[in-house]
Amino acid sequence: MSAGLTDRQAALAFAPAISTMTAMKAPHAMQPKHVKMLKRSFTALLLPWFDTNKRPMPWRNTRDAYAIWVSEVMLQQTQVATVIPYFERFLRRFPSVADLAAAPLHDVLVLWAGLGYYRRAKHLHKCACTVVNLYGGVFPTDAASLQELPGIGRYTAAAIASIAADQSVAVLDGNVKRVLARLLALRVDVSRPAATARLWDIAESLVPLARPGDYNQAMMELGATVCLPQSPRCDACPAQSLCRAAACGRQHDIPRKRPARVTPTMHCAAAAIRHGNRWLLVQRPNEGLWNGLWELPTIWSRPPRDTAAAQRAFCKLLAGKVEKIRPIVTLQHQLTHRRIDCTLFAGEMKASQAKAMVQASRGRWVSRADELPTSRLTAKLIAAASAALRGVK
Ligand code: SF4
Repeated sequence: MSAGLTDRQAALAFAPAISTMTAMKAPHAMQPKHVKMLKRSFTALLLPWFDTNKRPMPWRNTRDAYAIWVSEVMLQQTQVATVIPYFERFLRRFPSVADLAAAPLHDVLVLWAGLGYYRRAKHLHKCACTVVNLYGGVFPTDAASLQELPGIGRYTAAAIASIAADQSVAVLDGNVKRVLARLLALRVDVSRPAATARLWDIAESLVPLARPGDYNQAMMELGATVCLPQSPRCDACPAQSLCRAAACGRQHDIPRKRPARVTPTMHCAAAAIRHGNRWLLVQRPNEGLWNGLWELPTIWSRPPRDTAAAQRAFCKLLAGKVEKIRPIVTLQHQLTHRRIDCTLFAGEMKASQAKAMVQASRGRWVSRADELPTSRLTAKLIAAASAALRGVK
């Protein structure tokens, strides 16, 4: 234990402040000494725990700023288990930032298909081109330079700089916010800008000079595996003796819950139009949701309610003759801020019509969704159509 302070002493030092609950009401009134005390003891508990408990992840075996950057971008809004195969495929196909910059955006999007939040892939490609142009393909490793690059914010810059180059800068994501708020018993809504600014200050004051990259990863790991949003596992937490929220039994109330948002539902109708064993995909406009990606022909505004209306609507949408339209299934798809209810129809096109679609650049025929950059919904719809029509000629 550093500075001669035992865990128990540190916990007792916090006790009077817990009983007043002052800090829980007003984060800005929090005494800096609590942060200082935490700084003395916390890292000494956290790092050995991380060394023993960290989950194996492919990006944890490298100090290559480029690879760390790719992993950080993929991990935004996406689970570790989902990211791992994408990361490995991506690094195999684009082993360096120069390889990524040299590739057509289309290839990047195809590799990204299914990972969601496609803007991240576009930023990744744009940023790679900037690194090649400005830095000759050598990925910068200081946080200030990194933050100047397209698509790299304070969090990502700090993650790369601390992990790749031992720069003592803090990360702050949802997990870290929750851990800090609980350690210091800050009963705040961490999504509020004022609370976020305060937590950035605290995070920066806690990050150590030695092993800052491991410290940052340990904070994220603690939030992801122990200090869980709904049911924190305080008994397994290396910082339990220092935690003010746990000491006063308020860990479930901290941070303050945001009022639940009503998730709007969008209704649409999509057509899985078959020609031979291939499906027709059309490209989405270059703006809005899934911009520029490919999808089954879909009616988003006032979707048809019956087969006859669907027949008319899809013929009109494609400016071509679609035959044998019939409903096959209704699917739900959850996005972060909305739900999509999609009625899936099956249909067919004759050879002359199918050729005309391509000649007029109105669509492309594919055997699998991953031949083009598509959303997860499109992949799901094609899988559902394949299953429903298996054996149907
Ligand atoms: S003791 Fe519990 S609430 Fe406090 S940091 Fe650890 S897991 Fe989170």
